[in-house]
Amino acid sequence: MEPIPYSPAPKITVIGTGYLGATHAICMAVLGFDVLGVDVDERKIAQLDAGEVPFFEPGLSEKLREAIATGRLRFTTDFDQAAAFGDVHFVCVGTPQAANSAAAELKYVHAAFTSLASRIDRKALLVGKSTVPIGTAARLARMVHELSPAGVDLELAWNPEFLREGYAVEDTLHPDRLVVGVASEWAEARLRRVFEPLLAQGTPLIVTELATAELVKVAANSFLATKISFINAMAEVCEATGADVSLLARALSLDSRIGGRFLKPGLGFGGGCLPKDIRAFKHRAEELGVGQAVRFLSEVDSINNRRRTRSVDLIRELAGGDLAGVKVAALGAAFKPNSDDVRDAPALDVARLLYLEGAAVTVYDPEANRNAHRAYPDLDYAGSLAGAVQDADVVALLTEWDEFRRAEPQQLAALVAHRRIFDGRHALDQDLYTGLGWEYRALGRPYQPSTARAATQDGRVPRPGAVVGETPQDARTT
Ligand code: NAD
Repeated sequence: MEPIPYSPAPKITVIGTGYLGATHAICMAVLGFDVLGVDVDERKIAQLDAGEVPFFEPGLSEKLREAIATGRLRFTTDFDQAAAFGDVHFVCVGTPQAANSAAAELKYVHAAFTSLASRIDRKALLVGKSTVPIGTAARLARMVHELSPAGVDLELAWNPEFLREGYAVEDTLHPDRLVVGVASEWAEARLRRVFEPLLAQGTPLIVTELATAELVKVAANSFLATKISFINAMAEVCEATGADVSLLARALSLDSRIGGRFLKPGLGFGGGCLPKDIRAFKHRAEELGVGQAVRFLSEVDSINNRRRTRSVDLIRELAGGDLAGVKVAALGAAFKPNSDDVRDAPALDVARLLYLEGAAVTVYDPEANRNAHRAYPDLDYAGSLAGAVQDADVVALLTEWDEFRRAEPQQLAALVAHRRIFDGRHALDQDLYTGLGWEYRALGRPYQPSTARAATQDGRVPRPGAVVGETPQDARTT
């Protein structure tokens, strides 16, 4: 290929300013581009325009204010303005699971590409960032050529996104790698220009055709989900044998061929990506006649969901066999710490299942109470950790926020009605809790009664070979 000639910085639009799009728009402006963020949600656009991030993401508010102050970042709901402004248009709209199937719902993607393409009358590049089924980009490329006054001058590329909520700014400004699926050298050159600041810092770039770029994203999420469900499957075996999955995970993680990332047993994965992405991938693979190749993803999904019902079993056991009228403090609602995202959140699902069995559930999440309340208004919500655990019969740690990991068991003990704790994320020091008289249960770990009495009789607290939870860094999910 010829060396890429210098070209002036393209103007960028970002269509869809949710978790992914707002972060991308803000970071592109911080990197020096003129950026227009576009969404159909007027409220969201008004908030962003006023310098307010509509969701919780560490560090993003500061970056938004920094970008607005440069004058390089603006927001609109006007697609005419977007079509006239942008040289490179990134489409970041949602692709949730369809209402009555495992497939991805593509209506937002189609609407966004249609709105743009029908208005663009000059050479420009449309870049999909949303996670889509393989083959979507090729179909959209044909569609935009037919729709656009610019015809084939309106090119399409795909640039899958790997950012993790909770680390979105860092991941956008310093990604592990960039993947671009392109249909021409011109499209590749445009994207190299857009990502020049990241390429200059040594970020690897993988250039592919459209289908591989689409596949990289769902393959990556399938691998991560499989690793999480693998250790949770081992937790099921541990529960049947008296083995301890924490020790097992630790031993496996020290094998350099396996590694410890995503090998943390617990309540499993959730959120707006992994669950719907593996289901949509399996659905698409079946359509393509290769369903058998990814049939294991059904098991990955089932193992993950079984952790939720098994958690309810352990909480019920802690409560003495019946949840009716039992006061449960549900610590956490977000699908993972450092996020307020409650989409398919295991924590909220467990809280809901407890409620359905008659428990009086009080939820507390440092950031996600508002979203959780919107999803499940029937649950009670507390404004603080102390408020949630007050008079609780059972405390259930469901999302491993630092606030919960660092809570003093002695102080919690003074608030609860009974010292019973379910550690759904292997985030607590079991010995510390049992030593202070707490009944402690965790998925995949053998039951050990409270050691408080032993401690007072012989003056020391026995310390079986427990493994304290790994850092949130190790536990993070996409
Ligand atoms: P989101 O629901 O937070 O945001 C989607 C946004 O698109 C919303 O603000 C919505 O109003 C807007 N929108 C819908 N239709 C539109 C239209 N026609 N025109 C303009 N805007 C429109 O979703 P998200 O979490 O940001 O995910 C977006 C995509 O990125 C999904 O495909 C997801 O799988 C993928 N992704 C997300 C993450 C993540 O961490 N959230 C990471 C990687 C990839």
